[in-house]
Amino acid sequence: MLFGCGKGSAPDGKLALRHVRKQVAFGPRYPGSAAAKQARAYFRKQLVGAEIEAQEFTAVTPAGLVRMANLFAVYPGATDEILILASHYDTKHLAIGDWDSANDGPSSSGLLLELARAIAARHNLFTTYIVFFDGEECYVKWGPRDGTYGSRYFAAQLEKQGLLELVKAMILTDLVGDKTLNIGRDIKSSPELLKLAEESAAALGYGGYFFKYDCRGLEDDHTPFLERGVPAIDLIDFDYGPNNSYWHTKKDTVDKLSAGSLQVVGDVVMEMITRLEAVSGK
Ligand SMILES: [Zn+2]
Repeated sequence: MLFGCGKGSAPDGKLALRHVRKQVAFGPRYPGSAAAKQARAYFRKQLVGAEIEAQEFTAVTPAGLVRMANLFAVYPGATDEILILASHYDTKHLAIGDWDSANDGPSSSGLLLELARAIAARHNLFTTYIVFFDGEECYVKWGPRDGTYGSRYFAAQLEKQGLLELVKAMILTDLVGDKTLNIGRDIKSSPELLKLAEESAAALGYGGYFFKYDCRGLEDDHTPFLERGVPAIDLIDFDYGPNNSYWHTKKDTVDKLSAGSLQVVGDVVMEMITRLEAVSGK
């Protein structure tokens, strides 16, 4: 059987950027905020042809108990094997004042909506989970118990359901909208997926945007999956502005982003999926 065919089965960077602007317009989307709820409602509206589930939970944070909600859509494939495409949609909540965030949260979530549209339009070998994590950002100090609240909860639930061993790959995107796209090599990501990403980017002529530097000691929403033995990769551009100075500041605004960068990452993710299918489909 031939997988991958289907009209409209490619993500569109321009539409992804439009989804970024929509999220920003809701205002800061920290866990429990009205704007976060609006963002989830917006995601729901875009996710056509899938079963959608809101996964609500209470997180124990240094700021007390916080109600959070992951949102995910499942697109059935030809097999039970699972592919997870993920992004966090929350924004950092700080006492010094919130900001909208454009690259951190919205860029990868906007792209994820486009990846979902592409997945819905093609024949998929893998049952594909499109997951929007809440609570990626920490409240006080980043660590195993502060930050990645949503992904830790989601991974634990998959484990409880006995589905973890079915997960073929988890592909996380984070900070992928920077005009000067520069995806780092997260050395903790699964080596086979790093190789796949590198080969996919090269095949599309996008090799120059990938892996010019290493990310060391990086933890992100893929970490709870890696810890459970699931092959996972974080496609992250941790080089946002001079010396990463736009990251977690008010400088993280939409004018720093481009549809072209979102297009590159979207195309590479789809190429990775096609190649994973070719190896697994036999
Ligand atoms: Zn952040």
